[in-house]
Formats: sequence, C-alpha cells, structure tokens
Amino acid sequence: MQVTRCIWQGFTPLSVFAYLAWEDQQTVFWHETLFSTSLASQKGSRPLTYHWQTLLILPYNRDMSRSEEILINGAGPTGLLLASQLALRDVAFRIIDKNADHTTQSRALVVQARSLEIFDQMDIAQEALRLGEKAQAVGIIVNGKRMLRMDVSDIGEGLTAYPYLLMLEQSNTEKILNTFLVQHGHAVERNTELLDFTQDADSVTATLRHADGKEEIVRADWLVGADGAHSLVRHTLSIPFSGRIYQQLLFVLDCKVNLDVPSDEMYLAFSARALAGFFPMTNGRYRVIGMVPEAFEGQETITFEDVAKDFAERLQMDVTLQDPQWIAMYHSHHRAVAAFRKGRCFLAGDAAHIHSPVGAQGMNTGLQDAYNLAWKLALVAQGKAKEPLLDTYNDERLPVAHNLVRTTDRAFNIFTSQNPLAKGFRVNVVPVVMQAVLPFAQKQKFVRQLAFKTISEIGIHYRESNLSQEDPQSQFPRHAPKPGDRVPYIPLQEHSVGIQEMVKGTKFHLVLYVGEGADEKTQQELHELKKEYSDFIDFHEVVVSDKTRVLYEKFGIRRQGYYFIRPDGHIASRNSHLDVELFRSYLQRFLIKR
Ligand SMILES: Cc1cc2nc3c(=O)[nH]c(=O)nc-3n(C[C@H](O)[C@H](O)[C@H](O)COP(=O)(O)OP(=O)(O)OC[C@H]3O[C@@H](n4cnc5c(N)ncnc54)[C@H](O)[C@@H]3O)c2cc1C
Repeated sequence: MQVTRCIWQGFTPLSVFAYLAWEDQQTVFWHETLFSTSLASQKGSRPLTYHWQTLLILPYNRDMSRSEEILINGAGPTGLLLASQLALRDVAFRIIDKNADHTTQSRALVVQARSLEIFDQMDIAQEALRLGEKAQAVGIIVNGKRMLRMDVSDIGEGLTAYPYLLMLEQSNTEKILNTFLVQHGHAVERNTELLDFTQDADSVTATLRHADGKEEIVRADWLVGADGAHSLVRHTLSIPFSGRIYQQLLFVLDCKVNLDVPSDEMYLAFSARALAGFFPMTNGRYRVIGMVPEAFEGQETITFEDVAKDFAERLQMDVTLQDPQWIAMYHSHHRAVAAFRKGRCFLAGDAAHIHSPVGAQGMNTGLQDAYNLAWKLALVAQGKAKEPLLDTYNDERLPVAHNLVRTTDRAFNIFTSQNPLAKGFRVNVVPVVMQAVLPFAQKQKFVRQLAFKTISEIGIHYRESNLSQEDPQSQFPRHAPKPGDRVPYIPLQEHSVGIQEMVKGTKFHLVLYVGEGADEKTQQELHELKKEYSDFIDFHEVVVSDKTRVLYEKFGIRRQGYYFIRPDGHIASRNSHLDVELFRSYLQRFLIKR
C-alpha cells in the first residue's frame, strides 16, 4: 500500500480540505481531513470560493487503477446535469471531458419550460432567467412580407411557472451547471479523454488519457456516455444508431442582423429560392440558420461572404448580415439509438438521439434524459433500490427519443424539401392557410396549450412505464393526473397549499389525502411505513380544508387517497383509497427498505 497522491481540493479563508488517497492495486481508501468547517456548511458560500478550490487541484499519479461508483463521460449539458443531480444525492462519481473548457459557442439557444422546472428544483432557474431573455413572439416572413406573428410571451400560462421560451445560449447554460457542480464540491476533470472500456457483470474498466499523455485505468460500477453525437460509448457498445442524414446542407451563423423586427422575436423566412431562421441571442446578435445556396453545395466549407452575398435577394427581403462571430456548414441527421442501456453502461443526450434544430429540443431532451436517470442510478448505487429499476430508464426515454426524431423529421422535411411541388406548397399554400387558421387557433386556449405542452416538453409522460401503477379498484375523474404524468402545475393561490413546493427535493413524496383524518389502523400502518422508508420518501398529510381543497379537486380525490410522486416530479402511483398494504407491495417491487 502506498500513498500515491494528495489532492488539495479546497482552500478558502475559512477552510482547507485535504484528500489523501492510499491506493494498493485493488482498493482505494479515501481519507478526508477537515481542518476547519465542513463542506456541507459551505453550500451557502459564494461561487468564487469554489473557483479557488478547483484551481488548487494538484497533479497526481494517475497510472494506478482506481475504483469509482459512476463514471460520466462528457460534460456537455447532459453530463453536467447528471453530475449535478448525483452531487445533490451524495453519490460518488467522476465526470470527465476531453475538452479544456465548456463550450463558448451559442449552440442550443432555447431553454424549454420543463428544463426550467428542473433548474427550479436545483434553485438555478432564477440565474437562467437573469442571463436569458423571454421570447415575445414567433413569426413567418414570406417573400419579405411578415405574414404571421404569434405572441408567445405567456403561451403556457397556467401550465407551468415558466410559461414561455427562454432564449439562453448553451454556453451560459453550461456555465450555470458548471458553477452549480463546483458549489456542490465537484469539478469536471477536463483534458481527460475516455479511450476505451470493457464491462463484465460486476464493473466497467475504462482507460482514460490525461492532458500530459498519461493513461489511467478506472474501474467503475456504472458508465454513462453523455459524450455527444459521435459517442465513443455508443460505438464501443455497438448499439445501432439508425436514421438518416438529410441531403440538404445547412449553414449556422452567429452575426449581427439588420432586420425590421423586435430583437426578442424569432422568425422563419422563406421564398421560392431560400429559407432562413432568425433567432435573437442575448448579446444583441442573431443565430441565423439556413439552406446553403446551391452554388456552394459541393464545397467542404462555407464563408460568411458566401452566405451574406445575395442573401437578401434570395430571400426577397430587406435584410443585411454583418460582423460574423462564427459560421459552420453541416448536414443535419435524425437518428436514435436502439437502446439506452447495455449492461452497466447507459447513453444520454446527443449520444442517444440527434435531430434537426426544428423545435429547439435537442439539448432539452438530453437534460431530461439525465434527470430521469440520475435518481434511479443514485438509488441503485447507494443500495437503496433494486437493479431492474434501471431498466425503466430505457423503457421511459427510448419512446421519447423515437417520437422526437420522428416529429422533427416531418417538420424539417416540410420546411426544406426541394421538390418543386413541396416548394410551391410552402411558399403559396402554407402562409395562406396559416394566416387564415392561426389567428383563430391562437385564441383557442386548447390549441395554445397543446402547442406549448409539445414544444416545452412538459407534456411528456411515462404512462406505459412499469413504474406507473394504480389500484384497479381506484376511481378517479377523467381530469385527474395519471400515473406517469408530470405533477401538474397548480398556481399558488391565496388559501391554497403549493404542490410544487411540497414535492421539491431529491426524495419520493407520498402525498396522503387523509380527508378529515386517517382512521387509527391506517395511522398505525403509516407510522410503520415511515420508519421503514423515511430515507427515501417524504410524507405529506393533506387534511381537507379551505386551503387544501384545490389540491383535492385538481387531483380528483373525493374522500381519501394518495399520490406517490417520483424524485423527478412524475407520478408513480395513485389510489383513491388509503390502502397502505397495497402501497407497501408497490414499493417492495423496486425499493430496498432500511
Ligand atoms: C454548431 C451547433 C449548433 C447547435 N444548435 C442547436 C440549436 O440551435 N438548438 C438545439 O436545441 N440544439 C443545438 N445544437 C445541439 C446541442 O448543442 C446538443 O443537443 C447538446 O449540446 C447536447 O448535449 P450533450 O451534453 O448530450 O452533448 P455535447 O454537448 O455534444 O457534449 C458531449 C461532451 O462529451 C465530450 N466527449 C466526447 N467524447 C469524449 C471522450 N471520448 N472522452 C471525453 N470526453 C468526450 C465532448 O468534449 C463534449 O463536451 C447545436 C449543436 C452544434 C454543434
């Protein structure tokens, strides 16, 4: 046994942490010396303090084999969210990325409502709102004429606390998540590349290469490939990634745009010869995405001048492009994996699904993969849940990915098809139909809500999942949320109790609608249940009163019953009776009691 490294991971005016690792070939023992105050007590400190900590990570010997619980490959938005969620649950993990820093490119520009709800659970939604800007409208310009403008400033009103599209560059989203991770005592190991790995029934053995060229062998219980579209994890696992590449070449450009529309509105412009999307960014610039002009289609790269020249003429509109920051040309793909899990390895984010930018959902879907996986992986890693729980990650997220790829494919084809018939339809028929139908449809609450639920991803449910169960004897009205649904948003009104606040945190929540009070036998059973499961479950007893009546109504409880909420805010099971034994048998299927 020998001392192979000493990492100083913290240095603040108040505290110094020394982590000493003694390793022999097989086992790693960590000794944590605390000189002044505890890490937990620092959680309220300012982020600057934590940058000090990450700066002070000293070089160490990496040639030895180490054992970790979870290895996350890739620190894009997906990997960062997964790591943040594991950090909240005190699970041992490492997160590595071959890049020296998080992206500085704008990339995904919209943070959807469901992602903001997740950020809310982590208390970082306000920071996202501070850095971002709410889109006020989306519209269509045909042959230079603004044909349609749809107000989206509060399109999802009543459905979520975040009823809009938040424009926020991916660089900022990653910055927020990075800071969160650091504030919770972790940091991405940058300049660290996963070279290859193997797995057996008990562990994953991975080879990492560090910036200095040294290689390190890591043993982990689980490996998550959040390593983007070209995922090494996916390739190594030989998981099919079927789909296709679009013929149509696209350019993506960040620049200044002279366009006669407000800077907080998004527009899609098309003519018979061209198509472009204008997405304002928070720094006064625009993301412009469009079809590469035919004259440049054979080229390997494209320049700003290639695009800017004749841009207005091709679109037949009054617009000029200036001061480019970056430009790229690419073929969009739409692909999804055949499985999100193989043995001890998982895929998440772009590693599992890629599609055209239509709908601005790529990054958001990755964030939600991570949110779905994190609590399951944490419970299994901590020995609190049975391993089959992990299969539900694949069962729940695979249909979401396939559906997303299918719908974005359809939309992309409508907008980009070069078929003369389709072009004619796009320029001549679509705007007329939209002009006739949309002003009417826009006023219909049902249509607005449906559109918002789809695009914001708050409508995603897991009703078909093995985890979603209800007592067949139960009786609920049609409007009541079903097992698998996301807990509905109930605006906090005067005299009501907020369900969103109630189901916050990292545990399950058992919301017991006890009417005027549970009978003695039920109370005794609940008492026993709490003793066994209070590690995982927060219990909330809701006695009927003027303050709580809105909850009884929205959740369709007539007299008594319960809703069991998962840590990711989806409903696991419900019952219109307080049947504690049935609930216990549900828990025993996947949880391991204390
Ligand atoms: C130019 C561009 C423009 C885009 N525009 C939009 C848009 O407008 N709207 C939208 O929704 N989406 C857009 N996207 C897609 C969006 O950026 C992705 O959906 C999002 O980044 C996915 O996040 P991720 O964490 O899953 O993967 P990534 O962000 O790709 O992160 C993967 C990480 O894994 C690391 N990695 C990979 N292999 C290894 C390895 N072997 N070892 C260690 N590290 C590794 C990479 O360095 C990277 O940091 C755009 C993407 C690009 C490239």
